[in-house]
Amino acid sequence: SLSDNLDKTFRKLRGVGHISEKNIADALREIRIALLEADVEFGVAKDFIANVKEKAMGAEVLKSIKPGEQIVKIFHDELEALLGADQAPLDLNPPARILICGLNGAGKTTTSAKLAARLKKEGRRPLLVACDLYRPAAIDQLATLAKQIDVPVYTPDASEKDVVKVAKDALAWAEREHGTVILFDTAGRQEIDERLVEELKRLHAFLQPKETLLVADAATGQQAVSVAKHFDEAVGITGIILTKLDGDARGGAALSMRAVTGKPIKFAGEGEKLDQLFEFHPSRMADRILGMGDIVGMVEQVAGKLNEEDAMRSMQRMQEGKFDFTDFLDQMKMIQKLGPLEGLLGLMPGFNKIKKQLPSNAFDTGKLKRTEAIVLSMTPDERRRPEIIKGTRRARIAAGSGTTLPEVNTLLKQFGEMRKMMKSPGKMKGMMKQLGGMG
Ligand code: GDP
Repeated sequence: SLSDNLDKTFRKLRGVGHISEKNIADALREIRIALLEADVEFGVAKDFIANVKEKAMGAEVLKSIKPGEQIVKIFHDELEALLGADQAPLDLNPPARILICGLNGAGKTTTSAKLAARLKKEGRRPLLVACDLYRPAAIDQLATLAKQIDVPVYTPDASEKDVVKVAKDALAWAEREHGTVILFDTAGRQEIDERLVEELKRLHAFLQPKETLLVADAATGQQAVSVAKHFDEAVGITGIILTKLDGDARGGAALSMRAVTGKPIKFAGEGEKLDQLFEFHPSRMADRILGMGDIVGMVEQVAGKLNEEDAMRSMQRMQEGKFDFTDFLDQMKMIQKLGPLEGLLGLMPGFNKIKKQLPSNAFDTGKLKRTEAIVLSMTPDERRRPEIIKGTRRARIAAGSGTTLPEVNTLLKQFGEMRKMMKSPGKMKGMMKQLGGMG
């Protein structure tokens, strides 16, 4: 993945005792390849490298005491700029109409419902309107999702063929429903064609929406970028929602989108569940691409469902490297409330690396229960200082928890590694400092 490749390049830089123009040029060449492999648009990658190069080659950087650290910072700042440093919230001033468009399968319907759920949580009164007159299944799908999140939905008659008529009727309905923000889920196509564009233009002209959001599948890489360009030329999009960032998207789409269209990525879809739509933060995405994890995102996600104070304390202990089995137990309880463990851990620094080493069943609930039993069989002192858990203690814990010695051993080993990884942003800084000191 992109962050793995970048990680490798930065690690190589670290191994160099003295930073020269050649080291930087070599690193930039590797970064450029990594970007292209991640499906970043060619022109975007080229400009990006040129920008980083110009700044990194500056005499101040080479002569500074910590050149390595400076280069990483330049890289981070440029990534952030590329992703769009100037984020603006949705314009929700009444009459707030949001037109949601995109190709079939991008995630329009799901995202419409997710966005409605978000707006509802913020205390607004969202309404959903199904405008896909070609796929009855899409109308049913929206109706089903709307029911799940308890948001009123307007579904047109199966015989209705004119989308502007549907929109007109829906607006009258919305007024009776006292909606404060109305989301229109439109028809897509397999690919962009004349008819789709014409219909969308008519709908757009009639509704005059404050926001026209393009839903694009991150996994489709450069195709998503060209789709965004086309939709933007047709109706003038105001923002992009990038879906399926939880999958193995190569990340390039996110990087090129903003540069090619000039339109901000407003939200990121990271799963099929209706609460898995998150505000897009360029700085955090840049951190993530640089492999530093997304601790703030993790805190937010956790805090949304749990006691914020507990979550913050736990994060702080992680960062300070004081995380012990008592914290682990607390987290396990949180995680059981949270659902998909992997999604959450994916935000943690270095997790992608340890994930590869974990057994594939590491995330099932039966296993979680056994893990919990093991921790509960430890004494408070053992939970605080796992390093004292040696041979006889291990056997006692296995017997006490009704598990096996190999299970206890595995958990202790994994916990040790997890702990190391948690400290990795700090480690990264330390390592850059070291590099700087030598330069
Ligand atoms: P539409 O044709 O554009 O309306 O697309 P749908 O809303 O029907 O979504 C297509 C598929 O993608 C469905 O199976 C969704 O559950 C799935 N999907 C949508 N958004 C996401 C996401 O952010 N992550 C993942 N993993 N799946 C998603």
